[in-house]
Amino acid sequence: MKKILLLTTLLVGLRTFSQTPSQKFEFVNFSQVNITDNFWKPKIDKVATVTLKACIYQTEIKTPRIRNFEKVANNKGEKFEGIYYDDSDVYKALEAIAYALKTHPDPALEAKADEWIDKVAAAQLPDGYLDTYFTLRDINQRWTNIEAHEDYNAGHLIEAAVAYYNVTGKRKLLDVAIRLANHIDSTFRLGNKKWFSGHEEIELALVKLYRVTNDDRYLKLADWYLQQRGKAGIYNYEGKWFTPAYWQTLKPVKDQTEITGHAVRAMYLYTGAADAAALTGDNGYMNAMQKVWEDVVYRNMYITGGIGSAGDNEGFTKDYDLPNEDAYCETCASVGMVLWNQRMCQLTGDSKYIDVLERSLYNGALDGLSLTGDHFFYDNVLASNGQHQRREWFGTACCPANIARLVTSVGNYIYGKSDQGIWVNLFVGSNTNIKLGNTDVAIKMETNYPWDGKVTLMVNPNKKTNFKLHIRLPEWSRRDISPGDLYFPAGSSLGGVFYPNPPITVNGHDAEYKIENGYAVIQRNWQRGDKVGFTFNMTPKAIVASSDVKMDGDRIALQRGPLIYCVEGADNKQGVWNLIVPTNTNFTSTDYKVLDESVIALQAEVSSAKANENGNGIQIERRKIVAIPYYCWANRGANDMQVWLPVKIREVKINYSSKYEDGGNR
Ligand SMILES: [Zn+2]
Repeated sequence: MKKILLLTTLLVGLRTFSQTPSQKFEFVNFSQVNITDNFWKPKIDKVATVTLKACIYQTEIKTPRIRNFEKVANNKGEKFEGIYYDDSDVYKALEAIAYALKTHPDPALEAKADEWIDKVAAAQLPDGYLDTYFTLRDINQRWTNIEAHEDYNAGHLIEAAVAYYNVTGKRKLLDVAIRLANHIDSTFRLGNKKWFSGHEEIELALVKLYRVTNDDRYLKLADWYLQQRGKAGIYNYEGKWFTPAYWQTLKPVKDQTEITGHAVRAMYLYTGAADAAALTGDNGYMNAMQKVWEDVVYRNMYITGGIGSAGDNEGFTKDYDLPNEDAYCETCASVGMVLWNQRMCQLTGDSKYIDVLERSLYNGALDGLSLTGDHFFYDNVLASNGQHQRREWFGTACCPANIARLVTSVGNYIYGKSDQGIWVNLFVGSNTNIKLGNTDVAIKMETNYPWDGKVTLMVNPNKKTNFKLHIRLPEWSRRDISPGDLYFPAGSSLGGVFYPNPPITVNGHDAEYKIENGYAVIQRNWQRGDKVGFTFNMTPKAIVASSDVKMDGDRIALQRGPLIYCVEGADNKQGVWNLIVPTNTNFTSTDYKVLDESVIALQAEVSSAKANENGNGIQIERRKIVAIPYYCWANRGANDMQVWLPVKIREVKINYSSKYEDGGNR
């Protein structure tokens, strides 16, 4: 492996931020993508102007997160306040600010970031160590407890530093990150200390640090962290939650086949492992991750792309255990699904990973952010009787800045490039310039996705050039709903329903294309003014779950395009738990508003059960219902909500409605 490492290091050194030999293609960085559409552009604007203000207010004024850094610099023996991982929220907010500055230059916001960076830098110890919890409490206790999140905090610092350097060119935070990474490398890898990261994150961060510095010390350290998992006897910290399975350290990473434990930690681990595999060419990680990925997507993923069924371990339980009202589905875990699936797609060139990425992005992750941009979900349940409401902030505040950094960098997931061509993965109105060899190719995408399936691509190379254009054909538009047998269209067998692939035109004429790994591939001599058109079928679909998912038995969910729908009390005053919605119900699409958000809603006439006047019998009546995109729910006060709708009366609950004004959300 050492030889491969040296070779890839050399290649990467010459080709920073480009495709590695192990990748089929590399995504175009968001900083090169200008998003112009009516769906993501307003959300990116809102995060830049509203969400980040909320993050700054909570981090600096309302809570002592910034004050902890000031206390270290003051060196007056002041006490740490908050929770031991609070430093990470500062770093994640800085990372989101960096991304926002790229698309929304804002001198005041940049000045605030610089002010925070000065405070962070002033809290670094001379040997590079930086963690306000241990520095203020007892520095002698540092690096003694793998659950103490020191390397998790360090990972988020590194990610923020790389982002801020890439966007602003300012090195101060990057130099802090380098000193900290060097301290960690000396302490652990070079110091041969027995250790592993209790909350993974540093692995993927170190790969980013390697890519920006070209110093392979950081890639070696990332690989070292990955190699420590599953070694017997190096953890001594067991408890109700803190088990090897919880930490994904039952086996070495390369031997893992099942998803276990804490969902966010698992996602960050496998993202880091995929990054390391891309750079080292180590197939061991890839083979293991494909098995683990199947375990997630085939048996442990919600229809929303959310993961994690239980709150007590914030993670996985057993296969097919997917409760709806008690779903965990942490926002950060859906963010992690986006990160991991992006890496898996780069390594394999297989669109199934983008199918899952898209599901998690548009549903499980986006649900974490209110339409107003200043309220958040930590858990993203699939059913509620009003006890779940968005909150301004959380004691454990990982989710708000995480959704902020995802939305501000959503341009990362649209376009890809390889030596052979260009890849279109998500359908977002946008433009970019891609360099293929000596040719500059300007690409412009126009679409009203996800409301409309029509997409137009303007392909403008600066000279006539032969290359392949790969257009992802979403799984929901052509075959089943999702890879594997966990979810499928109602009325189909498990073998799947096959829809015709959409015609694709080039300059108005039907184009021939091959399908490779889920992408339509058009290879031709492209020239200035070429126009590619296609339309995905957006007919709403009723989805059923595998019979192994007991919680979804005799129920359907609704999907239109990439969006999962739900029925919420705000639109359905006569209740959402008392519906009977047969699988063949005819839903029609209609323009609708949820607050200021213009959406497509689904409407149908269905049966609804209620108690009769005497309360001694049931009365069935017909009424119209409205289903809205899942990500829009819980923006209009406490409300009932269901994603999975009963097909049969035995699943119906009568008079099951809002009981709580303020619920059990974190
Ligand atoms: Zn979180």
